[in-house]
Amino acid sequence: MQLSSARSEKSFVTHTPGYWPDIEPALWNDWKWQLKNRVTTLAQLEQHLALSNEERSGVLLSGNKLSLAVTPHFFNLIERDNPDCPIRRQVIPRIEESWTSPYEMSDPCGEDSHMPVPGLVHRYPDRVLFLVTDRCASYCRYCTRSRVVSGAGEQELHTDFEQAFRYLEEHTEVRDVLLSGGDALLFSDDKLESILKRLRAIEHIEFLRIGSRVPIFLPQRITPQLCAMLQKYHPLWMSVHVNHPRELTIEVKQALERLANAGVPLGNQSVLLRGVNDDADTMRDLVQKLLMCRVRPYYLYQLDLITGSSHLKVPVSKGIEIIEALRGHTTGYAIPQYVIDAPGGGGKVPVNPGYTLFHDAEKIVIRNYEGKVFEYPENGVASVSKPMPKVDLDYFYS
Ligand SMILES: *Cc1c(COP(=O)(O)O)cnc(C)c1O
Ligand code: SF4
Repeated sequence: MQLSSARSEKSFVTHTPGYWPDIEPALWNDWKWQLKNRVTTLAQLEQHLALSNEERSGVLLSGNKLSLAVTPHFFNLIERDNPDCPIRRQVIPRIEESWTSPYEMSDPCGEDSHMPVPGLVHRYPDRVLFLVTDRCASYCRYCTRSRVVSGAGEQELHTDFEQAFRYLEEHTEVRDVLLSGGDALLFSDDKLESILKRLRAIEHIEFLRIGSRVPIFLPQRITPQLCAMLQKYHPLWMSVHVNHPRELTIEVKQALERLANAGVPLGNQSVLLRGVNDDADTMRDLVQKLLMCRVRPYYLYQLDLITGSSHLKVPVSKGIEIIEALRGHTTGYAIPQYVIDAPGGGGKVPVNPGYTLFHDAEKIVIRNYEGKVFEYPENGVASVSKPMPKVDLDYFYS
């Protein structure tokens, strides 16, 4: 049974109507209806699924941490009879979220200490992370910003737009602005456009990107009108967030194609999660399916040390093993860079399998994906101290 379900994950299918057998397609395809009809309560959940005790207690506790919310579109991906369903683990709270370990933090990437202006994280020299909202279409239980996202937790996000724009105008070293949150695609087209227009008016800002899970949680939001608006602000790139191949439904594929057709280059950021995508076969299906949707796998994140996430944590050695199983075995474009966002605020650090066996001033010794060993000289250029050999030009021209 495991095998046949694994095989089907590589095809693009629809899960509609699923748990909503009576819904009119016109309503279903309306992103506002999807948002209004999100699953947010224990009673709604129990209408559709038999919850475990761990889940039921998790839901009851989620109210003062990270809210429960799942769009009907995404909820339909949950397999009713599989308690270990990889979609379920991402969005249904569990009691383990209230467990804490001494390594865990509410702000694992040290964002709050790198905010010169509320809502603007300036950690790297030439680019900023602009947290424009605290709302998402659905909430991921492992969210690195669960301290502010959803409005239920200990902290609130108070983005000061005017102050942020002024900071960006003054800081001419910033050439790249990444809109995130929360999810900027929950704004109306007009509101989002006003932000993009304002950023585009700043001459030194060359590159805009939006980090969004809306194409996955709420593909109905990717309307032709939205795409037509976005393409006025190029170069505009988008990073989406897909963790499991089942998330790539027909509807999601079509939404991603609309964005790609509007000239928006697409990347994907996955989080390595226990019981979701922590095996090489699932990850290979995922990255190959992403290429079919014209999305380039960008980062694979080691889970941040977010409070209450240890049940989803995968050892780094496993992540390296998964990358090792991809490199050389599939299309280079399909392979994301595995990174750890250094705890406390060091930024993203690449983690790679060890392909360098030895390296000094003379040579580097490397191994390939099959384990074969090769040597490459550091000083292998032809020596210039030797005299040039005399060339008989007559020989060439005769
Ligand atoms: C991830 C991140 C960025 C963008 O990093 P890239 O490697 O350029 O994608 C920028 N600022 C912050 C604070 C980030 O966490
Ligand atoms: S979509 Fe992104 S910001 Fe929103 S809950 Fe999920 S991980 Fe967090």
